[in-house]
Amino acid sequence: MTEQLKAQFTQRIVELQKRIGAIHRDFADGRDADWSEQAGERENEEVLNALESEAKIEIQHLSNAITRMENGNYGICQACGEDISPQRLQVQPAAEKCIQCAE
Ligand SMILES: [Zn+2]
Repeated sequence: MTEQLKAQFTQRIVELQKRIGAIHRDFADGRDADWSEQAGERENEEVLNALESEAKIEIQHLSNAITRMENGNYGICQACGEDISPQRLQVQPAAEKCIQCAE
């Protein structure tokens, strides 16, 4: 079951990396934009930057979760050592802490 989840996480990481790649392509296209569109482009860049850092954070969480699976620590709270509830893991499979410690 963990193997399945690991495959899911790995696939998600690949998707996120593709998305970051697409964002970088958008940046490259943006450089050729007309002067009249510059203001809009700049706003757009901020949005793309935010999306990119979000994607990077998620990749980090997912790869941490994969490492924990490999070490047999997956589903265990990194703060108090208690099991993270299955309901929580269902909503947030890459959760590192139990609900009590995350709050
Ligand atoms: Zn905890």
